[in-house]
Amino acid sequence: MTYEEAPACDRHESSVLMRLRTMHSDSSRPDVVVGLFECPECGHERRTPIRTGETAETAA
Ligand SMILES: [Zn+2]
Repeated sequence: MTYEEAPACDRHESSVLMRLRTMHSDSSRPDVVVGLFECPECGHERRTPIRTGETAETAA
């Protein structure tokens, strides 16, 4: 299982992809899980929605 939507940490000039730490579901959007990503370089954390259904839209 791969996560192609892993975000890049914006604290580096070079692109450092963040690692998925945990996932949890959003009760208001059952077709989306929110992934908690952590940068392996600086430990910066970021939450990003991960689509699990075909009808999911990207959260702004
Ligand atoms: Zn970083």
